[in-house]
Amino acid sequence: MKAPKDQHFLVDAEAVALIAETVPISGRKVLEIGPGGGVLTDALLSRGAVVRAVELDGTLLPNLEQRFSDQLASGQLEIIRGDASKVPLPEFEIVVANLPYSISSKITFRLLEAGFESAVLMYQLEFGERMIAPPGDGEYGRLSVMTQTFADVEMVLRLPPEAFSPPPEVWSIVVKITPRDPPMPIADREVHAVLVRELFSHRRKTIRNGLKGMKSIYDDAALSLIDALPKELLDKRPEMLSIVDFIDLSNRLALLIR
Ligand code: SAM
Repeated sequence: MKAPKDQHFLVDAEAVALIAETVPISGRKVLEIGPGGGVLTDALLSRGAVVRAVELDGTLLPNLEQRFSDQLASGQLEIIRGDASKVPLPEFEIVVANLPYSISSKITFRLLEAGFESAVLMYQLEFGERMIAPPGDGEYGRLSVMTQTFADVEMVLRLPPEAFSPPPEVWSIVVKITPRDPPMPIADREVHAVLVRELFSHRRKTIRNGLKGMKSIYDDAALSLIDALPKELLDKRPEMLSIVDFIDLSNRLALLIR
């Protein structure tokens, strides 16, 4: 199939099967984002999933409707035309998608907010590696902390450009995301999100200097937090802090703000 710019269709049959089999989907409500030519849709349907697919590109719909006319008629498949980062999402338990990379971040956080049991999502390699990076790793940053605070994230497979047609310039990675409760209660999610964002906006700065920079947001509370923290922690850079460290810091800050 001739693909418009930025559309890369998965042609590696083994990868398609592995993605469709990473989590049990038979009889489950599966959301697919960007079905494209339907290669993954086909794999999901043939494994018994009830698929709701959101596709932005209307030129792909006639082909999808023809290819899956039986499943559309029986209700096993529904195709929703629209932008998955904006349209009301249908009810779903599992997400499986070879995502359009331009909306990776936006759609991932939208999905996490909507809630699901598990997701098997394909990303550009660098993005996926930032999601799964542990503390101390050069790739560990805001995306890693905000994802790993609310979910277990693991790599399923890496894919070279040749797995797609036409081949993109970048490698890809498939990641399995399983939402769970944070490892300790978060007093104020907004304070937590702002703290993580601000500390990583200057990743070379120590926690002490990062908190000083937050005076403009939280006024004296950020400075009082500096007084309350041990020197060893204040001297660290944000990339050395664990998921629990960030929650603990944000809980202390939330108490000082009130
Ligand atoms: N799933 C197919 C495959 O694996 O071969 C196609 C994957 S292709 C990388 C991404 C698909 O997402 C394309 O079909 C594209 O039209 C669609 N798409 C792009 N932006 C979208 C958006 N905002 N919402 C829904 N679909 C989108």
